[in-house]
Amino acid sequence: MIPTWNAQLCNLCAGCRGICPFSAIQIHGGILRIDQDLCTECGECVLTCPNYALDSKAATVEDIEGIDVLVVGGGPAGLAAAYWAAKGGVSVLLIEKKKGLEIPLSCAEGTTVTGFADLGIPMRESWISQSIEGGILISPSGKRVFLKHPDAGFILDRRKLAKDLAVEISDLGGRILTDSDLFLLENGIYHVRNRDKKFRIKPRIVIAADGVEGSVKRLHGIKDILDNNTVHSAAQYVVAGVTVEYPTFLVGSRYSPGGYLWLFPKGKGLTNIGVGIEPNAKQTARDYLQRYMEENFPEASVLESTGGIVPARKLGPFRHENVLFAGDAAGTTDPLSGGGIAPAFFTGRLAGQLAGRFIAEGKEHYLEQYEKEVRKSMGMRHAFMLRMRRLFLKLSDDDIEYVTDFLRDSFDGKTVDHIDVPAILKNLVFNHPRILKLLTGL
Ligand SMILES: Cc1cc2nc3c(=O)[nH]c(=O)nc-3n(C[C@H](O)[C@H](O)[C@H](O)COP(=O)(O)OP(=O)(O)OC[C@H]3O[C@@H](n4cnc5c(N)ncnc54)[C@H](O)[C@@H]3O)c2cc1C
Ligand code: SF4
Ligand code: SF4
Repeated sequence: MIPTWNAQLCNLCAGCRGICPFSAIQIHGGILRIDQDLCTECGECVLTCPNYALDSKAATVEDIEGIDVLVVGGGPAGLAAAYWAAKGGVSVLLIEKKKGLEIPLSCAEGTTVTGFADLGIPMRESWISQSIEGGILISPSGKRVFLKHPDAGFILDRRKLAKDLAVEISDLGGRILTDSDLFLLENGIYHVRNRDKKFRIKPRIVIAADGVEGSVKRLHGIKDILDNNTVHSAAQYVVAGVTVEYPTFLVGSRYSPGGYLWLFPKGKGLTNIGVGIEPNAKQTARDYLQRYMEENFPEASVLESTGGIVPARKLGPFRHENVLFAGDAAGTTDPLSGGGIAPAFFTGRLAGQLAGRFIAEGKEHYLEQYEKEVRKSMGMRHAFMLRMRRLFLKLSDDDIEYVTDFLRDSFDGKTVDHIDVPAILKNLVFNHPRILKLLTGL
């Protein structure tokens, strides 16, 4: 069948025109036409279109009725939201556009003990790839700071965690559809494409846990504030043949300008090795990662290769009409470290719980409470870490050596049972004129 064009979904990117092997597609004056004489119905353009604006068959359309809470996205925020909303006794549907939960997975899976507690579900042995009992920082010149912290956190097994949570959500009466992409909003009805079917859903509440991509924001016409100044860009390999005992962080312009390179032990002979950098750096994150691997572990086996962007910006939005935004979709990731699992758990859980109460009791104040509670809990820290990120981006390699010396004097070889990152940073900034000068110049 010759594809049909949906002008409402098309943004005239011209990708289909470029891919058509028979030059059958023309775009003039905002109108796309397919020349019926040239088109061989090969279907390439339909597969290429990122917006599903070309269709070659009349897909079956089904209405899914009676959904109280639609959760968009099956990452940490979406799973936490769906779990807690289902636990509140309301009808929940979670849609995830990937073919399987957390496949592929763009994450180094590190989180702290307190960060994991934000999920509100006790930790299980099978969700831990490796416990973290300390960490090593390596400066541009190779100086090391080693800190032992017996109960620091975990390198999670996010895939196993996601599967188990999905089973629990289903046991609580919720439903999960993978390979299901939300692509259109029309008169309050959300349209989802699931393989060769389409679903229409009119939920009472939507929890947008759709990550940095933020499709829900786009469908509601909410402008995102993502640009080179408000994200980190990251690349990661899952590697065999490299062993590290402790999470190790390398800083400096050689491998990770404006960010850091990490080696996280994943257990069973695997290590997550990745790089997060500021996007204005000279090369891409993958280039820096590749250089590090070639210079340090040329023989290692790379089993998975992923990457992505991580928000490093102000918080929000948290609510728009009947939509609550959670996790990366609301920019909750720590702007300095790029750690986003814990705040995704926290906001997802809160959004799920409050959506459940709103449905059960019909009281608007539960929706209003969401933003207030998130800002109260993490607003100050987030603003401070954003400022620290701006400061970090100003540091030269010499400045980083200076900071490393401070950390060596304060912590090297010590064992601690708690790390208060903002307190350490405040101590550093306010007692070291050179760093304070950089901060005041921001
Ligand atoms: C390389 C890398 C390493 C990282 N390492 C760490 C780390 O070690 N520790 C840490 O705390 N954080 C880390 N982060 C950040 C962390 O992964 C994210 O902050 C976290 O996953 C955010 O969770 P989320 O649920 O908000 O979003 P996501 O995990 O991004 O989930 C959003 C989901 O929504 C789905 N989706 C999007 N649009 C649609 C749609 N239209 N329809 C249906 N589904 C949709 C996506 O497919 C995705 O699965 C890392 C990030 C990167 C890129
Ligand atoms: S690829 Fe899709 S969005 Fe781009 S011009 Fe073609 S139909 Fe439009
Ligand atoms: S179906 Fe094939 S031949 Fe027809 S317009 Fe699309 S890409 Fe071109």
